[in-house]
Amino acid sequence: MDLTLSPQEQAFRDELREWLEKNNPGQEPSGEQDMFKFRREWQKTLHDAGYAGLSWPKEYGGRGATLIEQAIFNEEMARQKAPGLANVLGLVMGGPVVIAHGTPEQKERFLTPILSAEEIWCQGFSEPESGSDLASLKTRAVKSNGGWNITGQKVWTTYAHEAKWCMLVARTDPDAPKHKGLTYFLMDMEQEGVQVRPLVQITGESEFNEIFMEDAYVPDENVVGEPGQGWNVAITTLMNERAGLAFGSAVAVKLALGDLMDLVRERGLEEDPIIRQRVGQLYIEAETLRLNAYRGLTSQMKHGIPGPEGSLPKWQWSDINQALTELAMDIRGPEAPTVDERWTYRFLRARANSIEGGTTEILKNIIAERVLGLPRMR
Ligand SMILES: Cc1cc2nc3c(=O)[nH]c(=O)nc-3n(C[C@H](O)[C@H](O)[C@H](O)COP(=O)(O)OP(=O)(O)OC[C@H]3O[C@@H](n4cnc5c(N)ncnc54)[C@H](O)[C@@H]3O)c2cc1C
Repeated sequence: MDLTLSPQEQAFRDELREWLEKNNPGQEPSGEQDMFKFRREWQKTLHDAGYAGLSWPKEYGGRGATLIEQAIFNEEMARQKAPGLANVLGLVMGGPVVIAHGTPEQKERFLTPILSAEEIWCQGFSEPESGSDLASLKTRAVKSNGGWNITGQKVWTTYAHEAKWCMLVARTDPDAPKHKGLTYFLMDMEQEGVQVRPLVQITGESEFNEIFMEDAYVPDENVVGEPGQGWNVAITTLMNERAGLAFGSAVAVKLALGDLMDLVRERGLEEDPIIRQRVGQLYIEAETLRLNAYRGLTSQMKHGIPGPEGSLPKWQWSDINQALTELAMDIRGPEAPTVDERWTYRFLRARANSIEGGTTEILKNIIAERVLGLPRMR
């Protein structure tokens, strides 16, 4: 890939940079609810200015921009420390899945409210006994009048407590081989058959939840793809999840490294050979993460959808972010885990990086089998 920006891309970046300098709302408020509300308003501001869903088709509220422009956007947002967006799962996974597999009616119905953050989305894949081996999931959907009745349990469902829609995979044919008996649904969370219970994380936050479904109803028009084809649609979701992380995370890691170097200087450790070596190593790894993000983008530009190579930056990002926050804790000394401050929060939150969006072990299997072409383990 040519890493030099074309004159149009440069003009786009300059215009965006200027817009962000004027409109970036700055530091997020503390407290989960206030922060979510703030992020929702910020996403609406971006949408009104034409900066949400950059590469989505214009007729559905996007900008019809190139993937390079989308990557520039992610980099600039991280560089200017702009706040996160509320509807992450809808933007990174739900919308791209509807664009790739949805009917024209589904595109018309679902895409614009994702961009404006009017309707928040969550992802109901994992179950108490099915995480990495997703195809073994047990939630059942049974055909009923003009739709499906869904019964079962999902777990670790990020933002289920805020969501209007859940992209959910359920078993519709218990007699078919496990990957073939699944169907992909868009389930309305606002109905009696759906109960959401929060789970508390190591950070003290309740970002994720359990969902209990008892005859929850989904009409036929909210099935994405054909019944029995849910596995393919689920794979598109996961590929988008991993690829979507790559750019923002590459820049976020560079910024965090900058903060880490400030901490090193604050503590007078610039000349410490061990600290210098650990920071230097992290710098090298952050740079390879950035280049691998570009490699994934090149492949996506060639094939139209993200491929298995997106697993590599996701794995690299979790390793680097965990090592970086561990170094910060080592520098801050024994009191670090017990005090309530930014590095302690980052260190605790980073524990989940190698689990969320696919564990590192699973990503290594994908890279071995589907990128390097090594023999399959099963
Ligand atoms: C912060 C956070 C947010 C999340 N948000 C969501 C969400 O919104 N929606 C959702 O559906 N899920 C979500 N998850 C769940 C996440 O996708 C799962 O936790 C993850 O896929 C692992 O599944 P599991 O927890 O069941 O672990 P398991 O699959 O039981 O794995 C346990 C251990 O065994 C290893 N292992 C399993 N199989 C293999 C194998 N074949 N080869 C080698 N090692 C293996 C794993 O790597 C892991 O170390 C979230 C998780 C976290 C931490």
